[in-house]
Amino acid sequence: MFYRHEDGSYTQRPGVFEGEPLADGRRYKGMSATYAPDVSPNDDVKARFALSFELAFKYGSSSRGEIFNFYGVVPEKGFPIYQSVDVGKAFTYSGPDALKLETFEFYTRGFDEREKDPFFTKMYWDSSNNGWMVTVAVPDASAQPGRRVILACSDVLLDELMRRVASPPIKGSYGSLFMADADGTLIFERDHLADIKTSEGSASIKSLGLVQSVPLLKASRGLGPDEVKLVETDREIVAVTTLASTPWILAIHYPLELMRPAVLQNFAIVIATGLLTLLVELFIIRSVLIKQVSQPLERLIRAVNLVGKSQGSLDAGDLPTASQDEIGQLARDFQMMATRVQEGRLRLEEKVQERTERLQEANDRLVELSITDPLTGVANRRRFDAVLEAEWSRAQRSGSSLTLAMLDVDYFKNFNDGYGHIAGDECLRRIADLLKEVLPGSAGLVARYGGEEFVLLLADAAESGSLIASIQEKLKALALPHSGSPFGTVTVSIGWATMTPTDASVAASLVELADKALYAAKNAGRNRSIKA
Ligand code: GH3
Ligand code: MG
Ligand code: MG
Repeated sequence: MFYRHEDGSYTQRPGVFEGEPLADGRRYKGMSATYAPDVSPNDDVKARFALSFELAFKYGSSSRGEIFNFYGVVPEKGFPIYQSVDVGKAFTYSGPDALKLETFEFYTRGFDEREKDPFFTKMYWDSSNNGWMVTVAVPDASAQPGRRVILACSDVLLDELMRRVASPPIKGSYGSLFMADADGTLIFERDHLADIKTSEGSASIKSLGLVQSVPLLKASRGLGPDEVKLVETDREIVAVTTLASTPWILAIHYPLELMRPAVLQNFAIVIATGLLTLLVELFIIRSVLIKQVSQPLERLIRAVNLVGKSQGSLDAGDLPTASQDEIGQLARDFQMMATRVQEGRLRLEEKVQERTERLQEANDRLVELSITDPLTGVANRRRFDAVLEAEWSRAQRSGSSLTLAMLDVDYFKNFNDGYGHIAGDECLRRIADLLKEVLPGSAGLVARYGGEEFVLLLADAAESGSLIASIQEKLKALALPHSGSPFGTVTVSIGWATMTPTDASVAASLVELADKALYAAKNAGRNRSIKA
């Protein structure tokens, strides 16, 4: 398995890399190995080295050309590996380019007792592969404390990883890769590849001052496994996620300018679909509206107008009461309301009719009262004035005559003084009754002129004389006692006059004439009548 060189270093037995069979017949084509001369290989080293051979050949050959390359390392500074370059030729253990495994991070950390879990190294330049890489190392659980016997390693070929990260399957997008540490140590960033490589993997988002990437670094903090955060910068939308089981953060950048045409196209589709849906909805809504809403509403409004203008009662077909919706409910409610309004209106009309009749009666009564003397029940002075004017005009037109008699109770002051006012009132009533009796029907008008004075207006002059004479006769027959009068009974003095009105004459002249005659009758001794 080992071949000892002159400088004391060992490599694989010649021919193994070419696939020549070992003594037991096994072949390891493509395998090469190197072993430092620290410890001459004993059986234990050989056994572990052989195990490394097996593992590296089995897993390294199966992942040929892939991102990963698996191999085992022994702490005695040696490892076999499956790769295109013969490590036995690439590495020497003396001279300026001597291989110093103890300067490699995977070696020093991998055999450090403090490291318990698998770890990722920083990126480094691997001269045997002529490429950049990171090694994932898995320390063994040592059988004896302080003594590790083998380290399982896998190189991650960054060129291949970068190539894949650089062009994600989404057209127009690109990727970047950085470590989930405080500074965002860069693994791949297409615009700063040179910086990353010259710094041997220590360049970071912070050290290079990549302002655009700072939000990605922030978003990466506290990111759970399988979790993706979206970050929008002024130029890009970036999806940030962890790469499972690695300390790496993958960011897929999608330039916003690429998004606009896609968004606009989707937008156009959305609007077109929306418009079409709207048209269909409008058509459906229109036909539903007309049948279910507009027509019943029109009927309802017509019915409302009908009731509002109180043009008769509603017919069964006037309202959409059969509709099983809100309009139908409204129509039924309205019908009930309209019926109640109709009933109410009829009751109101009856009441108004009733009240009007009563009012008419009251009015008639009022008119009656306004022209009647309350004490005696004969016409009052107002009524007399009106009738006199009317009769005067009539006589003027017809050329007929009019007779007026004025009566005054004699010594009536004495009557009141002697018998009291109540008896005086009663006396006035008796005289009024007598006058009514004498002048029945429509022959003329009896009125109380004022105080204890009455007037008689007579149309027929011919009968006036006898009629006036009968007043005094009947009063004499009545013989109302009057101790304050020289006649012993109540008597009246009458002055009367007959005139045929001319166009120039006024009704007052007739009153004046009669009044003068009355004055004359008084002066002549009372209890008599004098014609002017
Ligand atoms: P003469 O014969 O000159 O007419 O004397 P007289 O006393 O009748 O006349 P006078 O004018 O002096 O008095 C009229 C009286 O009539 C005075 C008044 O008290 C009375 N009188 C007027 N109106 C009423 C009335 O309504 N009721 C009563 N009881 N008396 C009245
Ligand atoms: Mg008098
Ligand atoms: Mg008198």
